[in-house]
Amino acid sequence: MLFRHGIPPMTPGKALTEERWQAIWHDLVALMRHGVRTGSIDTVRDEHLPEVTGRAPRDDRHGGEVYVYRRAGRPCHVCGTEITRADLVSRNLYWCPACQA
Ligand SMILES: [Zn+2]
Repeated sequence: MLFRHGIPPMTPGKALTEERWQAIWHDLVALMRHGVRTGSIDTVRDEHLPEVTGRAPRDDRHGGEVYVYRRAGRPCHVCGTEITRADLVSRNLYWCPACQA
């Protein structure tokens, strides 16, 4: 969700404007409705899917297309910048330093 909205992962929630939060919320609601219909969580926009861009589909055992999750060191689907990973309170963060600057 942070990738979809171009938000750096270290951004404190209180730094989001009301307008930005509303955009995230509306996007979440639409994605959740889609998830209920399809039985899967799909966060990659149609225009970035392998069948549209010609890139190879996700090839790990988890399945489903993702922008940054577990893609450290691989090129961003949107800009080609290498995806970055960092630890935050024992959790892994993944992000594109260009798209989420
Ligand atoms: Zn990017």
